[in-house]
Amino acid sequence: MMRAGFVAIVGAPNVGKSTLLNQMVGTKVSIVSPKVQTTRTRVLGICIEEQTQIIFIDTPGIFAPRRRLDRAMVAAAWGGAGDADDVLLLVDASRGIDSNTKSILERLQKTERRVTIALNKVDLVVKEELLELAQKLDAIGIADEIFMISAEKGDGVADLLTYLSGRMVVGPWLFPEDQISDMPQRLLAAEITREKLYLNLNQELPYATTVETESWENKDDGSVKINQIIYVERPSQKAIVLGKGGRQIKSIGESARLELEEMLDIRVHLFLFVKVREKWGDDPERYRDWGLDFNA
Ligand code: GDP
Ligand code: MG
Repeated sequence: MMRAGFVAIVGAPNVGKSTLLNQMVGTKVSIVSPKVQTTRTRVLGICIEEQTQIIFIDTPGIFAPRRRLDRAMVAAAWGGAGDADDVLLLVDASRGIDSNTKSILERLQKTERRVTIALNKVDLVVKEELLELAQKLDAIGIADEIFMISAEKGDGVADLLTYLSGRMVVGPWLFPEDQISDMPQRLLAAEITREKLYLNLNQELPYATTVETESWENKDDGSVKINQIIYVERPSQKAIVLGKGGRQIKSIGESARLELEEMLDIRVHLFLFVKVREKWGDDPERYRDWGLDFNA
C-alpha cells in the first residue's frame, strides 16, 4: 500500500529543523548554520520510508516580522503548515518553551491543528528535565505524539519517521522516486554558497546578503561551469565579502565548490562575483524567485 503526504516542520530559530531534515532525507537539501534565521527559501526534502513518500517543508523561523522579507517568510511558513498532512513541531529541549516556541504553540492551538512534537537535542539534557518538558507540552493538548530525538546524532529519528509515514495518506507517490528536493539545482547551488558565506564571515556578514546563480553551463568534458553573484547592499559590505587581497571570497568559493562537486558528483568550476545592489529586500522579483509572497 503506497502512501504520500506533506509534513511541515515548524519551530523556533535554531531548534534544528534543517539538521533534522538533512538527517531524514540523507542528503544536504537545506542550509544548516549555527547562525539564526538563515533559511530563507522554502525547501522541500523528500524522504522515502518503506512504501511511503514523505515530503518535508522546512519553514523559515521568524515570528516577529518587521521587514517585508520577514513578513513574507512567516506567511510562507504558516501557509505551508496549513496545507500539510502533518505538522512536526520541533522544540529545543535544552531551551525548553521559550517565547518563540510559546507563540508557535499558541498559533497552533488557535488553528486547532493536531501536531507531532519532537524534542530535539536530547543529547544536551538530563532525563528528568526531558520528561518534565514532555509533560508540559503534553498538557497543552495539541500533540498526538511526542518524540525525543537528537537530529544531529540521529537518535530517535528512525522511530519518528516510521510514525510520520503512518500519518500520510494512502495513494500514489507525488514525486519521482529519485527526487530528493524540488528545489532547482541553481537555487540549491546558491544556498550552498550562501551557507559558506555565513560560516566564513561569522558576525560580520549582514543579513541583507543574497546569492544568485547567474549561469549554469554543462561542459563537453562532463564538468559544469557555474557563475554566481553575491549581492550586498553597500560597498563596505562588498569589501568584507572580498576580504584582504580577495582572500575571503577565494576561500568561500573553494569550500562551496568542494561541496557542489560532492553533491553533483562532477567537476565544478565556480566563479563568484560580488555586486552592490541597494534595497534588494524590496525587489518583487526576488520574492518570486524564492516562492514568497511580496505582499504578505
Ligand atoms: P534551524 O534554524 O531550526 O534550521 O536549526 P539548524 O538545523 O540550523 O541547527 C541549529 C544548531 O543546532 C546547529 O548548530 C546544529 O548543529 C545544532 N543542532 C541541531 N540538532 C542538534 C542535536 O540534536 N544536538 C545538538 N547538540 N545540537 C544540534
Ligand atoms: Mg534552518
